[in-house]
Amino acid sequence: MKLLGSIETGGTKIVCAVGYKSGQVIETITIPTSSPEINIPEIVEFFKGKDISALGIGSFGPIDTIEDSPSYGKISNTPKLPWVNFDLISALRDGLSGIPMKLVTDVNEAAIGEYYLGAGKEHKSLLYITVGTGIGAGYISDNSLLEGFSSPEMGHILIEKVSRDNYEGSCPYHGDKCLEGLASGTAIEGRWKNKGFELRDKMEVWELEAEYLAKALTNYIYILAPEVIVMGGGIMKQKIIFKLIENSLNKIVNNYMDLNKVKIVSPALGDRSGIIGGLILASKIV
Ligand code: ZN
Repeated sequence: MKLLGSIETGGTKIVCAVGYKSGQVIETITIPTSSPEINIPEIVEFFKGKDISALGIGSFGPIDTIEDSPSYGKISNTPKLPWVNFDLISALRDGLSGIPMKLVTDVNEAAIGEYYLGAGKEHKSLLYITVGTGIGAGYISDNSLLEGFSSPEMGHILIEKVSRDNYEGSCPYHGDKCLEGLASGTAIEGRWKNKGFELRDKMEVWELEAEYLAKALTNYIYILAPEVIVMGGGIMKQKIIFKLIENSLNKIVNNYMDLNKVKIVSPALGDRSGIIGGLILASKIV
């Protein structure tokens, strides 16, 4: 079996691993995200001499993941300032020349992991959503990842604000008009002046959160009809939300579609959906 490499870059940490397409991880390191000048040599150092046949990468964005685009692999306008306009794929190709590599967004990498080896194993279509500092989602149907002129930005779909909510919204682009602006971890903290885990016992927090997430899921379900929806990220560790989302979703959809055909679950691979997704991504290019 070919040895493969995987990278998952996030806002706070970067995980690198070597392993197999079966999901078996042989060795891994986690490094804090700082700047390309520090992180790229650390990544290169980890993979050098490990004899991997290919590398799968999932990166925070916005990043161009369309392979024939002139700016493929380039990060654009991120709040992580040292990374603005950084050409991630060229830096990795320079440091690890000769190793074929493929790049997707961080949520798509996690979607791949869950689709092939996690909650989606027995199913044809899967939507992976992460609800953390930001919100993002990736969709795979019939082994094919949904992409257009760019990867989709499902975290920013427009959501109707509920009348009892006075929060001005946290999205720098859309304020209180989009899902991320109303329901991300950043929005929860902005609205309630505490972090999600500190609000554990405050039901009104989770009822409102579930209402917004259920509105978003309704749109995703109407458009994509996924058999499985995997919900990960820090906020989804409040398990109470799953039941509240289900209640809210039933009310909104009002039997228009058969929700028994949609499974809404936590990531079966836990925190490893992304890094395992990277190994599978790598396996598809060799
Ligand atoms: Zn937005």
